Amino acid sequence: MDAEITIIGAGVIGLAIAEKVSESNNNVFLLEKHLKFGQEISSRNSEVIHAGIYYPKGSLKAKLCVEGKRLLYDYCKKFDIPYYNCGKLIVATSEEELSIIEAIRQTAIDNGVDDLIVVEKEEIAVMEPNIFALRALFSPSTGIVDSHSLMKQYETNTINNGGQIVYSSEVIAIKKVNGGYEITLSYADNKEYTFSTRAVINSAGLTSDRISEMAGMQDDNLKILFCKGEYFRLKTPKNKLISRLIYPVPVHNLEGIGIHVTIDLGGGVKLGPDVTYLQSNIYDYTVDPLKQEAFFRSARKFLPFLEFDDITPESAGIRPKIQKPGDPVRDYYIMEESRRGCPGFINLIGMESPGLTSSIAIAQYVREIVDNTF
Ligand SMILES: Cc1cc2nc3c(=O)[nH]c(=O)nc-3n(C[C@H](O)[C@H](O)[C@H](O)COP(=O)(O)OP(=O)(O)OC[C@H]3O[C@@H](n4cnc5c(N)ncnc54)[C@H](O)[C@@H]3O)c2cc1C
Repeated sequence: MDAEITIIGAGVIGLAIAEKVSESNNNVFLLEKHLKFGQEISSRNSEVIHAGIYYPKGSLKAKLCVEGKRLLYDYCKKFDIPYYNCGKLIVATSEEELSIIEAIRQTAIDNGVDDLIVVEKEEIAVMEPNIFALRALFSPSTGIVDSHSLMKQYETNTINNGGQIVYSSEVIAIKKVNGGYEITLSYADNKEYTFSTRAVINSAGLTSDRISEMAGMQDDNLKILFCKGEYFRLKTPKNKLISRLIYPVPVHNLEGIGIHVTIDLGGGVKLGPDVTYLQSNIYDYTVDPLKQEAFFRSARKFLPFLEFDDITPESAGIRPKIQKPGDPVRDYYIMEESRRGCPGFINLIGMESPGLTSSIAIAQYVREIVDNTF
Protein backbone atom coordinates (compact mmCIF):
# COMPACT_ATOMS: atom_id res chain seq x y z
CA MET A 1 0.00 0.00 0.00
CA ASP A 2 1.25 3.51 -0.84
CA ALA A 3 -0.38 5.05 2.23
CA GLU A 4 -1.35 3.71 5.62
CA ILE A 5 -4.22 6.07 6.48
CA THR A 6 -5.84 8.58 4.12
CA ILE A 7 -8.08 11.28 5.56
CA ILE A 8 -10.39 13.13 3.17
CA GLY A 9 -11.17 16.78 3.98
CA ALA A 10 -9.10 19.45 5.73
CA GLY A 11 -11.81 21.14 7.74
CA VAL A 12 -11.52 21.49 11.50
CA ILE A 13 -12.51 17.85 12.00
CA GLY A 14 -10.26 16.29 9.34
CA LEU A 15 -7.33 18.38 10.59
CA ALA A 16 -7.91 17.41 14.23
CA ILE A 17 -8.08 13.75 13.19
CA ALA A 18 -4.91 14.10 11.10
CA GLU A 19 -3.05 15.53 14.10
CA LYS A 20 -4.26 12.80 16.46
CA VAL A 21 -3.82 9.85 14.08
CA SER A 22 -0.36 10.97 12.90
CA GLU A 23 0.87 10.91 16.52
CA SER A 24 0.91 7.12 16.45
CA ASN A 25 0.82 6.15 12.76
CA ASN A 26 3.27 6.62 9.93
CA ASN A 27 2.36 7.37 6.36
CA VAL A 28 -0.75 9.44 7.10
CA PHE A 29 -2.15 11.60 4.27
CA LEU A 30 -4.76 14.36 4.48
CA LEU A 31 -6.35 15.28 1.12
CA GLU A 32 -8.14 18.56 0.48
CA LYS A 33 -9.69 19.79 -2.77
CA HIS A 34 -9.19 23.49 -2.01
CA LEU A 35 -5.88 25.40 -2.03
CA LYS A 36 -5.89 25.64 1.77
CA PHE A 37 -7.69 24.30 4.84
CA GLY A 38 -11.09 25.30 6.21
CA GLN A 39 -12.72 26.78 3.12
CA GLU A 40 -16.15 25.26 3.70
CA ILE A 41 -18.16 24.66 6.91
CA SER A 42 -15.26 25.37 9.26
CA SER A 43 -14.77 28.99 8.21
CA ARG A 44 -18.44 29.91 8.20
CA ASN A 45 -19.65 29.31 11.72
CA SER A 46 -20.19 31.15 15.02
CA GLU A 47 -16.84 30.07 16.56
CA VAL A 48 -18.61 29.28 19.82
CA ILE A 49 -17.15 26.80 22.30
CA HIS A 50 -20.42 25.15 23.26
CA ALA A 51 -21.01 23.83 26.75
CA GLY A 52 -22.98 20.73 25.64
CA ILE A 53 -26.31 21.84 27.04
CA TYR A 54 -28.99 20.86 24.54
CA TYR A 55 -28.10 17.55 22.98
CA PRO A 56 -30.03 14.35 23.80
CA LYS A 57 -28.69 12.37 26.76
CA GLY A 58 -26.21 9.68 25.76
CA SER A 59 -25.74 11.02 22.23
CA LEU A 60 -22.32 11.41 20.64
CA LYS A 61 -23.13 15.09 20.21
CA ALA A 62 -23.56 15.49 23.98
CA LYS A 63 -20.63 13.32 25.00
CA LEU A 64 -18.10 14.66 22.48
CA CYS A 65 -19.12 18.27 23.12
CA VAL A 66 -18.70 18.11 26.88
CA GLU A 67 -15.39 16.28 26.52
CA GLY A 68 -14.32 18.39 23.53
CA LYS A 69 -14.94 21.69 25.31
CA ARG A 70 -12.53 20.76 28.09
CA LEU A 71 -9.92 19.45 25.64
CA LEU A 72 -10.28 22.55 23.47
CA TYR A 73 -9.73 25.00 26.34
CA ASP A 74 -6.62 23.05 27.38
CA TYR A 75 -5.35 22.98 23.78
CA CYS A 76 -5.91 26.74 23.36
CA LYS A 77 -3.89 27.41 26.53
CA LYS A 78 -1.11 25.04 25.51
CA PHE A 79 -0.70 26.41 21.97
CA ASP A 80 -1.66 30.05 22.54
CA ILE A 81 -4.78 29.90 20.38
CA PRO A 82 -6.87 33.06 20.93
CA TYR A 83 -10.07 32.26 22.87
CA TYR A 84 -12.34 33.98 25.38
CA ASN A 85 -14.35 32.19 28.02
CA CYS A 86 -17.09 34.86 27.95
CA GLY A 87 -20.05 32.73 29.10
CA LYS A 88 -23.55 32.71 27.72
CA LEU A 89 -27.06 33.65 28.86
CA ILE A 90 -30.07 31.66 27.63
CA VAL A 91 -32.95 34.04 28.09
CA ALA A 92 -36.67 33.54 28.66
CA THR A 93 -38.62 36.52 27.39
CA SER A 94 -42.17 35.29 28.01
CA GLU A 95 -44.02 33.39 30.78
CA GLU A 96 -44.25 30.26 28.57
CA GLU A 97 -40.49 30.17 28.18
CA LEU A 98 -39.85 30.09 31.92
CA SER A 99 -40.63 26.36 32.14
CA ILE A 100 -38.34 25.64 29.15
CA ILE A 101 -35.45 27.14 31.11
CA GLU A 102 -35.87 24.46 33.79
CA ALA A 103 -36.11 21.71 31.13
CA ILE A 104 -32.86 22.90 29.54
CA ARG A 105 -31.13 22.88 32.91
CA GLN A 106 -32.23 19.27 33.42
CA THR A 107 -30.98 18.16 29.96
CA ALA A 108 -27.68 19.87 30.69
CA ILE A 109 -27.32 18.05 34.02
CA ASP A 110 -28.06 14.74 32.24
CA ASN A 111 -25.19 15.57 29.87
CA GLY A 112 -22.78 16.28 32.73
CA VAL A 113 -23.03 20.06 32.42
CA ASP A 114 -23.69 20.89 36.04
CA ASP A 115 -22.45 24.47 36.21
CA LEU A 116 -25.54 26.25 34.84
CA ILE A 117 -26.90 28.96 37.08
CA VAL A 118 -30.46 30.30 37.04
CA VAL A 119 -30.31 34.09 37.15
CA GLU A 120 -33.23 36.36 37.93
CA LYS A 121 -34.09 39.74 36.44
CA GLU A 122 -32.07 41.77 38.96
CA GLU A 123 -28.87 39.80 38.39
CA ILE A 124 -29.37 39.89 34.63
CA ALA A 125 -29.58 43.68 34.88
CA VAL A 126 -26.12 43.69 36.46
CA MET A 127 -24.56 41.18 34.04
CA GLU A 128 -26.09 42.54 30.81
CA PRO A 129 -27.82 45.85 31.59
CA ASN A 130 -28.97 46.36 28.00
CA ILE A 131 -30.94 43.17 27.42
CA PHE A 132 -34.48 42.13 28.37
CA ALA A 133 -35.14 38.78 30.06
CA LEU A 134 -37.59 37.55 32.69
CA ARG A 135 -35.13 34.88 33.80
CA ALA A 136 -32.03 33.31 32.29
CA LEU A 137 -29.65 30.40 32.52
CA PHE A 138 -26.01 31.38 32.73
CA SER A 139 -23.47 28.98 31.23
CA PRO A 140 -20.03 29.92 32.55
CA SER A 141 -18.12 27.38 30.45
CA THR A 142 -19.31 28.67 27.05
CA GLY A 143 -16.76 30.70 25.09
CA ILE A 144 -15.46 31.69 21.67
CA VAL A 145 -12.35 30.61 19.79
CA ASP A 146 -10.34 31.77 16.79
CA SER A 147 -11.10 28.81 14.53
CA HIS A 148 -8.54 29.79 11.89
CA SER A 149 -5.67 29.76 14.43
CA LEU A 150 -6.98 26.47 15.77
CA MET A 151 -6.97 24.84 12.32
CA LYS A 152 -3.50 26.28 11.60
CA GLN A 153 -2.21 24.62 14.80
CA TYR A 154 -3.79 21.27 13.88
CA GLU A 155 -2.10 21.60 10.47
CA THR A 156 1.30 22.48 11.98
CA ASN A 157 1.17 19.62 14.48
CA THR A 158 0.17 17.15 11.77
CA ILE A 159 3.16 18.15 9.67
CA ASN A 160 5.47 18.01 12.71
CA ASN A 161 4.18 14.49 13.41
CA GLY A 162 5.24 13.48 9.89
CA GLY A 163 1.75 13.57 8.34
CA GLN A 164 1.40 14.88 4.79
CA ILE A 165 -1.25 17.37 3.75
CA VAL A 166 -2.01 17.52 0.05
CA TYR A 167 -4.04 20.52 -1.10
CA SER A 168 -5.77 21.13 -4.46
CA SER A 169 -6.51 17.42 -4.75
CA GLU A 170 -10.08 16.28 -5.10
CA VAL A 171 -11.03 12.67 -4.45
CA ILE A 172 -13.10 11.60 -7.47
CA ALA A 173 -13.17 7.80 -7.16
CA ILE A 174 -12.64 5.11 -4.51
CA LYS A 175 -12.28 1.43 -5.29
CA LYS A 176 -12.10 -1.41 -2.79
CA VAL A 177 -9.03 -3.59 -3.41
CA ASN A 178 -7.40 -6.44 -1.56
CA GLY A 179 -6.23 -5.07 1.84
CA GLY A 180 -7.46 -1.52 1.33
CA TYR A 181 -8.67 1.04 -1.17
CA GLU A 182 -7.53 2.69 -4.36
CA ILE A 183 -8.15 6.41 -4.40
CA THR A 184 -8.20 8.53 -7.53
CA LEU A 185 -7.50 12.23 -7.23
CA SER A 186 -8.05 15.05 -9.64
CA TYR A 187 -5.43 17.78 -9.32
CA ALA A 188 -4.02 20.72 -11.32
CA ASP A 189 -5.64 21.03 -14.77
CA ASN A 190 -7.72 17.89 -14.32
CA LYS A 191 -4.78 15.52 -14.15
CA GLU A 192 -5.57 12.28 -12.35
CA TYR A 193 -3.50 10.25 -9.93
CA THR A 194 -4.36 6.92 -8.31
CA PHE A 195 -2.75 5.48 -5.17
CA SER A 196 -3.56 2.76 -2.64
CA THR A 197 -4.23 3.11 1.08
CA ARG A 198 -4.90 0.65 3.85
CA ALA A 199 -7.52 2.80 5.60
CA VAL A 200 -9.75 5.74 4.72
CA ILE A 201 -11.25 8.34 7.05
CA ASN A 202 -14.03 10.30 5.39
CA SER A 203 -14.37 13.76 6.95
CA ALA A 204 -15.47 15.52 3.78
CA GLY A 205 -18.15 17.64 5.46
CA LEU A 206 -20.85 18.67 3.00
CA THR A 207 -19.96 15.91 0.53
CA SER A 208 -19.13 13.12 2.98
CA ASP A 209 -22.25 11.22 1.81
CA ARG A 210 -20.90 11.26 -1.76
CA ILE A 211 -17.47 10.00 -0.62
CA SER A 212 -19.18 7.12 1.17
CA GLU A 213 -21.17 6.37 -2.00
CA MET A 214 -17.95 6.34 -4.05
CA ALA A 215 -16.81 3.41 -1.87
CA GLY A 216 -20.06 1.59 -2.66
CA MET A 217 -22.14 2.49 0.41
CA GLN A 218 -25.55 3.82 -0.69
CA ASP A 219 -27.82 4.89 2.16
CA ASP A 220 -30.78 7.25 1.83
CA ASN A 221 -30.75 7.64 5.61
CA LEU A 222 -27.33 9.29 5.40
CA LYS A 223 -28.03 11.73 2.57
CA ILE A 224 -26.80 15.19 3.42
CA LEU A 225 -29.22 18.08 3.07
CA PHE A 226 -27.64 21.51 2.78
CA CYS A 227 -29.11 23.72 5.49
CA LYS A 228 -28.12 27.35 5.31
CA GLY A 229 -27.59 29.62 8.30
CA GLU A 230 -27.50 33.35 7.61
CA TYR A 231 -26.02 36.05 9.85
CA PHE A 232 -26.60 39.76 10.24
CA ARG A 233 -24.04 42.06 11.87
CA LEU A 234 -24.87 44.53 14.62
CA LYS A 235 -23.38 47.85 13.59
CA THR A 236 -21.15 49.93 15.84
CA PRO A 237 -21.50 51.46 18.38
CA LYS A 238 -24.38 49.23 19.53
CA ASN A 239 -22.12 46.15 19.43
CA LYS A 240 -20.58 47.54 22.62
CA LEU A 241 -23.87 47.07 24.47
CA ILE A 242 -23.36 43.28 24.68
CA SER A 243 -20.53 41.54 26.50
CA ARG A 244 -21.36 37.84 26.27
CA LEU A 245 -23.34 35.39 24.13
CA ILE A 246 -27.13 35.77 24.41
CA TYR A 247 -29.41 32.94 23.21
CA PRO A 248 -33.17 32.61 23.21
CA VAL A 249 -34.56 29.27 24.38
CA PRO A 250 -34.16 26.75 21.51
CA VAL A 251 -36.81 25.30 19.20
CA HIS A 252 -37.94 21.80 20.13
CA ASN A 253 -36.06 19.59 17.62
CA LEU A 254 -32.78 21.52 17.56
CA GLU A 255 -32.90 22.25 13.82
CA GLY A 256 -31.18 25.39 14.99
CA ILE A 257 -30.90 26.99 18.37
CA GLY A 258 -32.77 30.20 17.60
CA ILE A 259 -31.47 33.51 16.28
CA HIS A 260 -28.89 34.29 18.89
CA VAL A 261 -26.26 36.92 19.52
CA THR A 262 -22.61 35.96 19.35
CA ILE A 263 -19.60 38.11 19.96
CA ASP A 264 -16.27 37.60 18.24
CA LEU A 265 -12.72 38.08 19.45
CA GLY A 266 -12.51 41.41 17.61
CA GLY A 267 -15.47 42.84 19.53
CA GLY A 268 -17.95 42.37 16.68
CA VAL A 269 -21.48 41.14 17.33
CA LYS A 270 -23.44 38.86 14.97
CA LEU A 271 -27.10 37.84 14.98
CA GLY A 272 -27.88 34.36 13.72
CA PRO A 273 -27.64 31.87 12.20
CA ASP A 274 -31.20 31.14 11.10
CA VAL A 275 -32.20 27.79 9.57
CA THR A 276 -33.11 27.34 5.89
CA TYR A 277 -33.01 23.95 4.18
CA LEU A 278 -31.89 24.60 0.60
CA GLN A 279 -33.95 23.13 -2.28
CA SER A 280 -30.83 21.45 -3.66
CA ASN A 281 -27.26 20.96 -2.47
CA ILE A 282 -25.75 24.13 -3.92
CA TYR A 283 -23.09 26.25 -2.25
CA ASP A 284 -25.30 29.29 -1.77
CA TYR A 285 -23.64 31.70 0.67
CA THR A 286 -25.85 34.70 -0.11
CA VAL A 287 -27.61 36.55 2.68
CA ASP A 288 -31.15 37.57 1.82
CA PRO A 289 -31.56 41.26 2.75
CA LEU A 290 -35.32 40.65 2.98
CA LYS A 291 -34.66 38.60 6.13
CA GLN A 292 -33.66 41.74 8.00
CA GLU A 293 -37.21 42.19 9.31
CA ALA A 294 -37.34 38.63 10.73
CA PHE A 295 -33.90 38.94 12.35
CA PHE A 296 -34.81 42.32 13.78
CA ARG A 297 -38.11 41.02 15.24
CA SER A 298 -36.51 37.90 16.77
CA ALA A 299 -33.58 39.70 18.35
CA ARG A 300 -35.62 42.69 19.45
CA LYS A 301 -37.40 40.43 21.97
CA PHE A 302 -34.28 40.39 24.10
CA LEU A 303 -32.38 43.39 22.69
CA PRO A 304 -34.83 46.23 23.43
CA PHE A 305 -32.35 48.86 22.21
CA LEU A 306 -32.35 47.39 18.68
CA GLU A 307 -33.65 49.45 15.77
CA PHE A 308 -34.24 48.10 12.26
CA ASP A 309 -31.24 49.85 10.70
CA ASP A 310 -28.81 48.66 13.38
CA ILE A 311 -28.22 45.38 11.54
CA THR A 312 -26.80 44.60 8.14
CA PRO A 313 -26.43 41.34 6.12
CA GLU A 314 -23.16 39.62 6.99
CA SER A 315 -22.38 36.06 5.91
CA ALA A 316 -23.78 32.54 5.68
CA GLY A 317 -22.68 29.00 6.40
CA ILE A 318 -24.11 25.62 5.39
CA ARG A 319 -24.86 22.78 7.81
CA PRO A 320 -24.41 19.17 6.62
CA LYS A 321 -27.77 17.96 7.95
CA ILE A 322 -28.84 14.32 7.89
CA GLN A 323 -31.88 15.32 9.93
CA LYS A 324 -34.76 16.07 7.54
CA PRO A 325 -36.91 19.16 8.17
CA GLY A 326 -39.26 18.56 11.09
CA ASP A 327 -37.56 15.28 12.11
CA PRO A 328 -36.29 14.62 15.62
CA VAL A 329 -32.65 15.52 16.29
CA ARG A 330 -30.13 13.18 14.60
CA ASP A 331 -26.81 12.22 16.13
CA TYR A 332 -23.40 12.24 14.41
CA TYR A 333 -22.74 9.19 12.25
CA ILE A 334 -19.19 8.03 13.03
CA MET A 335 -18.66 4.43 11.96
CA GLU A 336 -16.05 1.91 10.90
CA GLU A 337 -17.82 0.28 7.98
CA SER A 338 -16.86 -3.43 8.16
CA ARG A 339 -20.52 -4.35 8.61
CA ARG A 340 -21.28 -2.70 5.27
CA GLY A 341 -18.46 -4.54 3.56
CA CYS A 342 -15.88 -1.76 3.79
CA PRO A 343 -13.35 -2.70 6.48
CA GLY A 344 -10.89 0.06 7.35
CA PHE A 345 -13.24 2.75 6.06
CA ILE A 346 -14.39 5.22 8.71
CA ASN A 347 -17.28 7.53 7.84
CA LEU A 348 -18.07 10.81 9.59
CA ILE A 349 -21.40 12.11 8.25
CA GLY A 350 -23.70 14.83 9.54
CA MET A 351 -20.90 16.62 11.42
CA GLU A 352 -22.81 19.79 12.18
CA SER A 353 -22.62 21.90 15.34
CA PRO A 354 -20.98 21.41 17.85
CA GLY A 355 -18.30 19.99 15.54
CA LEU A 356 -15.84 22.82 16.12
CA THR A 357 -16.10 22.51 19.90
CA SER A 358 -15.90 18.72 19.72
CA SER A 359 -13.10 18.46 17.16
CA ILE A 360 -10.41 17.10 19.51
CA ALA A 361 -12.82 14.68 21.20
CA ILE A 362 -14.01 13.49 17.76
CA ALA A 363 -10.38 13.00 16.76
CA GLN A 364 -9.71 10.93 19.89
CA TYR A 365 -12.83 8.87 19.26
CA VAL A 366 -11.71 8.16 15.69
CA ARG A 367 -8.19 7.35 16.82
CA GLU A 368 -9.59 4.76 19.24
CA ILE A 369 -11.46 3.17 16.34
CA VAL A 370 -8.22 3.16 14.31
CA ASP A 371 -6.22 1.68 17.21
CA ASN A 372 -8.83 -1.03 17.79
CA THR A 373 -9.28 -1.87 14.12
CA PHE A 374 -5.71 -2.05 12.84
C1 LIG B 1 -23.80 28.30 10.42
C2 LIG B 1 -22.97 27.37 11.27
C3 LIG B 1 -22.64 27.73 12.58
C4 LIG B 1 -21.88 26.86 13.38
N1 LIG B 1 -21.48 27.28 14.62
C5 LIG B 1 -20.73 26.45 15.38
C6 LIG B 1 -20.29 26.88 16.64
O1 LIG B 1 -20.47 28.02 17.04
N2 LIG B 1 -19.59 25.99 17.42
C7 LIG B 1 -19.34 24.72 17.00
O2 LIG B 1 -18.76 23.95 17.77
N3 LIG B 1 -19.70 24.31 15.76
C8 LIG B 1 -20.38 25.14 14.95
N4 LIG B 1 -20.76 24.75 13.69
C9 LIG B 1 -20.38 23.40 13.25
C10 LIG B 1 -18.95 23.33 12.77
O3 LIG B 1 -18.61 24.46 12.00
C11 LIG B 1 -18.78 22.05 11.95
O4 LIG B 1 -19.19 20.95 12.73
C12 LIG B 1 -17.35 21.82 11.48
O5 LIG B 1 -16.79 22.98 10.93
C13 LIG B 1 -17.34 20.70 10.44
O6 LIG B 1 -16.01 20.49 10.05
P1 LIG B 1 -15.65 19.46 8.92
O7 LIG B 1 -14.18 19.34 8.94
O8 LIG B 1 -16.48 18.22 9.10
O9 LIG B 1 -16.22 20.12 7.58
P2 LIG B 1 -15.54 21.16 6.57
O10 LIG B 1 -14.94 22.29 7.27
O11 LIG B 1 -16.54 21.48 5.52
O12 LIG B 1 -14.35 20.32 5.94
C14 LIG B 1 -14.58 19.32 4.98
C15 LIG B 1 -13.51 19.48 3.92
O13 LIG B 1 -13.61 18.40 3.01
C16 LIG B 1 -13.20 18.89 1.75
N5 LIG B 1 -13.69 17.97 0.73
C17 LIG B 1 -14.98 17.67 0.44
N6 LIG B 1 -15.04 16.79 -0.58
C18 LIG B 1 -13.76 16.51 -0.94
C19 LIG B 1 -13.17 15.68 -1.94
N7 LIG B 1 -13.93 14.94 -2.78
N8 LIG B 1 -11.82 15.64 -2.04
C20 LIG B 1 -11.04 16.38 -1.20
N9 LIG B 1 -11.55 17.20 -0.25
C21 LIG B 1 -12.89 17.25 -0.11
C22 LIG B 1 -13.88 20.26 1.69
O14 LIG B 1 -13.27 21.08 0.73
C23 LIG B 1 -13.69 20.75 3.10
O15 LIG B 1 -12.54 21.55 3.25
C24 LIG B 1 -21.49 25.60 12.87
C25 LIG B 1 -21.81 25.25 11.55
C26 LIG B 1 -22.53 26.13 10.75
C27 LIG B 1 -22.84 25.75 9.34
